[in-house]
Amino acid sequence: MVIIDTSALQNLFQLLADEEYQLIGPRISDQAIVYDRIHSPDELPIGWTDEQEAGRYRLKRRNDSHYFGFVVGPHSWKAHLHVPVQKLWEAQRDGPSFEVRLHNDSPPKMAFIGVRACELRAIAIQDRVFLQGTFIDSHYQSRRKNLFIVAVNCTEPGGTCFCTSMNAGPRAEQGFDLALTELVDKNRHVFLVEAGSARGQALLERLPHRPASEADRQLARTLLEKAAQRMGRQMETEGLKERLYENLEHPRWQHVAQRCLSCANCTMVCPTCFCTTVEDVTDLTGETALRIRKWDSCFTSDFSYIHGGSIRSSTSARYRQWMTHKLAGWQDQFGTLGCVGCGRCITWCPVGIDITEEARIIRESTVNP
Ligand code: SF4
Ligand code: SF4
Repeated sequence: MVIIDTSALQNLFQLLADEEYQLIGPRISDQAIVYDRIHSPDELPIGWTDEQEAGRYRLKRRNDSHYFGFVVGPHSWKAHLHVPVQKLWEAQRDGPSFEVRLHNDSPPKMAFIGVRACELRAIAIQDRVFLQGTFIDSHYQSRRKNLFIVAVNCTEPGGTCFCTSMNAGPRAEQGFDLALTELVDKNRHVFLVEAGSARGQALLERLPHRPASEADRQLARTLLEKAAQRMGRQMETEGLKERLYENLEHPRWQHVAQRCLSCANCTMVCPTCFCTTVEDVTDLTGETALRIRKWDSCFTSDFSYIHGGSIRSSTSARYRQWMTHKLAGWQDQFGTLGCVGCGRCITWCPVGIDITEEARIIRESTVNP
C-alpha cells in the first residue's frame, strides 16, 4: 500500500486517458450524484455529501473538501455494463425480402472511478448472471472485458446502507484494480492506495507516491471498522431464505401491497436486478426494423404475462416475487444473495418501503402455511 496526494488523482486520470480509457465517475447532475463521463478530478462532487432515508435523498454541503464524502446515488454501474436499451439486430428491406444484420458492440475501454464495495459485489453478481452460466451475454461481455476499476472504501455509510449485513462492505476486498481510502485530518489530505491487479500495480508505480506507514494503514482500518458499526440499516440473513419460503402467504405481503405503487423504481435503481424485455420497432416507411432489449421489472403486470394473462396479477405477488428472489431464490439460482445492501431501493422508493423492515417483520412473525 502507498500514499498519494490528492494532486495525483489528476495523474491517475491522465494515465487512464492516455491508455484510451473512457472515464466514468460520480458527478452532480439534477440535484443528485450520478455516474457519468468525467475528465478531471475537479468534476467530482468535492465537498458534497448525500443525506438518505426511506423515500428521501438530499445533497448537502460538507464542512471539508472530501472527494468521495458521499455514498451511492440513483445510478449504478450496471447502466454501463448491462445497458438500459440494447440494440440486438436491425433488418433492412431488400426488395421482397429483408437483410438482417446482428448488432455487435464495440464499446470503448471504460474506467470506473469511485466504485464502492457493495457495487463491486453487485458487478460480481452480474458477472455470475451474464458470464458464468450456460449462456454468455456477448453485449455485457464486450463492455466488461476491458474494464478498469478504481474502488473507494466507504468511511461514512449512508442512512439506508446495510452492506455489512450482506457481507459486501464497507471495505473493497476484491474485484478492483486500485482501491483508495481517503484520509483527511487538519494537517493533510491524502489517499491510501492498494493495488488489486497487475495492471493496477503497474499504473500505481507510474503515479507519484510514497510508502504508507503502519499508522496510515491503522487509520484506514479504524475508519472502516467505525463505518461498519454505523450502518443506517441492518438485515439478519441467517435462515432468512427458509423463513421467506415458509411464509409465502404471510399477511405482510398484503400490507406492503397497500403501500407499493408498482412503480418499479426499486428494480431500476438496484445494481443487481437484470430483467429485460424485447421489443421490435419499425420506421414509418417499413424499410427498417429493429429488435431492442430494454430493462424491465417484475413489478409490471406485463412482465409475467403469458397466453391468457399475467401470472402475478396482484401487487402483493409482485413484491413477494421481488423480495423472495433477492433474498431466497437467488441463492438457489446463483449461489449468492441478490442484494448487496446498497440501500438504493429504500431511498428511491417514493413511499419509503424498506426491504430490511419487510424482511425483519416476516422473520419475526413467521406464519407457517
Ligand atoms: S435490493 Fe435494494 S439494497 Fe439490495 S442491492 Fe438491490 S437496491 Fe441495493
Ligand atoms: S416497493 Fe417502492 S419502489 Fe418498488 S415498486 Fe413498490 S413503490 Fe415502487
